[in-house]
Amino acid sequence: MTTWLPLARSKLATMSVDLKRLSPAERLLWDYGVRRPAHIDLEAIAFDKGAKVIYRRLGGSEARLVARGNHAVISINSDSNDGRQRFSLAHELAHWINDRETGAFLCAKEDIGPQDFEAKLVEKKANEFGSQLLLPNYLVDPWMKGRTVTLGTASLLGADFSTSLTAAAIRLIRRTNESACLVCHNQTRLVWFQRSIRFPSEYFLASGLHPETDGFRMAFGGASGLSEVKVEPANYWISSRGVSRLEVETQSVKLPDGTVLTLISI
Ligand SMILES: [Zn+2]
Repeated sequence: MTTWLPLARSKLATMSVDLKRLSPAERLLWDYGVRRPAHIDLEAIAFDKGAKVIYRRLGGSEARLVARGNHAVISINSDSNDGRQRFSLAHELAHWINDRETGAFLCAKEDIGPQDFEAKLVEKKANEFGSQLLLPNYLVDPWMKGRTVTLGTASLLGADFSTSLTAAAIRLIRRTNESACLVCHNQTRLVWFQRSIRFPSEYFLASGLHPETDGFRMAFGGASGLSEVKVEPANYWISSRGVSRLEVETQSVKLPDGTVLTLISI
């Protein structure tokens, strides 16, 4: 039998949650009484699980977990920005909850991140669990109702859930029923991408930024902030048979590491 519980006393009061469909990370939040984004207190969860969180310089790595018996110390790189620190905490908490038999973790920059483009399996799992701690589907799905899939919307999602724009944009793309794709470029190549479930798999993504795009101007010039949503030829961004007649909507933003994130909607 399915258990349905109402989300009382919040703007999400009309939503019901099927507890059997929650991921382990979502179930953890639910059991801690998380019913809206502001309830997600990772430091309190860490404390309750026996892990102390400290912020300090880590000399190259993003975060570290040192475990002894039922207690652990999670160190977060104090030089990183807020969104990154929060994702790192979620990631280390995932190691502490799921991988504590494995011992200590010293997690490098490329291991921690919602985009997951070159992480090892144990790190991918920690990223996925951590992403669900920050942006649980049972809160994100109702939040997305009636909103367009743009980077502007991702920015609002990130603000409401206290995450980076990148983490929020990836969650939007993973949960939307629209045909859309996130691409992240540096000056020379496509670094990572995330397709929505309805984005055609036969579309190849451009390996570099087209000179006519705002993304290109951001990568090579001083342009910053969120660009306007633009309609432009699809072949600036994708290639496939028949694409030359298509137009897409795009919006770009320069990320703190200098790469450019673009959301393409068909
Ligand atoms: Zn890790």
